[in-house]
Amino acid sequence: MQAKEIAQSQLDSKLLEEIENKTHTKVSACFQCLKCSSGCPLAYEMDYLPAQIIRMVNMGLRDEVLRSRTIWVCASCETCTTRCPNDIDIAHVMDALRETALRSGKAETEENLRHFHEAFLSAIKTWGRVHELQMIGMYKLKTGRFMEDADIGKEMFKRGKIKLLPETTRGRRAVKRIFKKTS
Ligand code: SF4
Ligand code: SF4
Repeated sequence: MQAKEIAQSQLDSKLLEEIENKTHTKVSACFQCLKCSSGCPLAYEMDYLPAQIIRMVNMGLRDEVLRSRTIWVCASCETCTTRCPNDIDIAHVMDALRETALRSGKAETEENLRHFHEAFLSAIKTWGRVHELQMIGMYKLKTGRFMEDADIGKEMFKRGKIKLLPETTRGRRAVKRIFKKTS
């Protein structure tokens, strides 16, 4: 996928402050060195590169950012965050943008990406960590894509990569509190 040019449209001066407050990271410190974009393993699937998203947040392009595909394609791998010379937590910014997009009803991505995000968070909320079987089950129920990737699923199950029963964490209650505070 070819990254788009940033389109100039209505600017929202509050977007930068809102995202900086949510993430406690100084998005305005970005000097567009592009180290985040050049290290991102999923950049080829994005409509805007990570550095462009950061630029757009700085410019106040709320609608473009919240409707972008990039924020849903991001896998939170944190490569960009590690590479940023200004300590901007780009992965966290992407996460805040996803939540903002969901709450504002402006998310325009493919529904399956959104369903995957919701299934992932639901598993974390329940167990304090991901339980793949629950997550896959929820995702399949929401999307109806029951047979898609069935062969890979079977193989992962055989190799013990997908556990039948969930494992929980000691921090499960703390995770629940975080969800309660932020919902
Ligand atoms: S690595 Fe940091 S400073 Fe460089 S473009 Fe990305 S966000 Fe901006
Ligand atoms: S966290 Fe997201 S944007 Fe950053 S490198 Fe990973 S996939 Fe790319």
